[in-house]
Amino acid sequence: MKELNFKQELTAAFGQPISENPTQVMVEAAYHHHNLDWRYLTIEVGPNDLEAAVQGAKVMGFQGFNCTIPHKVKVIDYLDGLGESASLMGAVNCVVRKDGKWIGENTDGKGFVSSLRELTDPKGKKVVIFGAGGAARAISVEVALAGAHHITIVNRSAGRGEELTSLLQDKLPCYADFASWDSTYSIPSETDVVINATSIGLFPDLDAQLDFDPDSLLPHMLVADVIPNPPTTHLVRDARAKGCPVIDGLGMLVNQGVIGIKHWTGIDPDPKLMRAALEKVFG
Ligand code: NDP
Repeated sequence: MKELNFKQELTAAFGQPISENPTQVMVEAAYHHHNLDWRYLTIEVGPNDLEAAVQGAKVMGFQGFNCTIPHKVKVIDYLDGLGESASLMGAVNCVVRKDGKWIGENTDGKGFVSSLRELTDPKGKKVVIFGAGGAARAISVEVALAGAHHITIVNRSAGRGEELTSLLQDKLPCYADFASWDSTYSIPSETDVVINATSIGLFPDLDAQLDFDPDSLLPHMLVADVIPNPPTTHLVRDARAKGCPVIDGLGMLVNQGVIGIKHWTGIDPDPKLMRAALEKVFG
């Protein structure tokens, strides 16, 4: 496995070398605002040290932690149990101490669904998702658990796309199909929700665009983009120009933070100030 250092990991997730971890800034802004005497630390842990690091968090009285690539799957070996969606996805990004047990959750997809619910109920909806990586997996599982009726996975590599489609079809209460993305994709007119869960458009590739027929994007479709930096991608701009309701990548990031803080501290933090803290980091 190619090992990345933490700064490189942040760059992969947010698109530019950032000296501050945006999640840390956002979570600590909420702690400060709500007068919580807590800290959210950014700690780099190599793959060979993961077990020791989890053990360390336990004995040092941590209430939980987030973890990212390359630990999202391996960390499961050191936990006492998993939430439903983390178990279906086979990946954990948030660990919570509950009654002395360490439980793995996945808040990425839940954060997305919280953002979605601000605009529409996913129940019964027809959803098109571009991408089949970690973000698409988390979002599609959670959208299916929230009652989406039909999910189409559109992905460049057929292997990953078909694997995710099979997971949805076999383990979740939705109809799922795969569309190979080897030419310009035309979004079916009956689609309710269109989601970009690829890394296309992430800084510095500001000109990169999803290869779909712009005429197939219709005003009744809700459009969401996971790209947090910049939040206004080509897709977001095109969708707004068409009059579509839009969710940008900061919405998902903020809401996964809200859910993590609720898990750890029991309080419901203010998402508006968390978003403002993130907007400052991304300039
Ligand atoms: P992965 O590397 O696991 O998956 C990347 C996906 O993008 C794959 O489906 C890949 O297709 C596709 N892709 C990449 N480049 C192209 C291209 N040029 N043409 C077509 N498809 C392409 O990454 P993640 O799923 O973990 O992350 C994806 C994005 O989501 C990142 O940019 C990240 O910043 C963002 N994200 C945002 C979050 C938020 O809270 N807003 C949370 C988590 C992630 P293929 O399989 O063919 O390679």
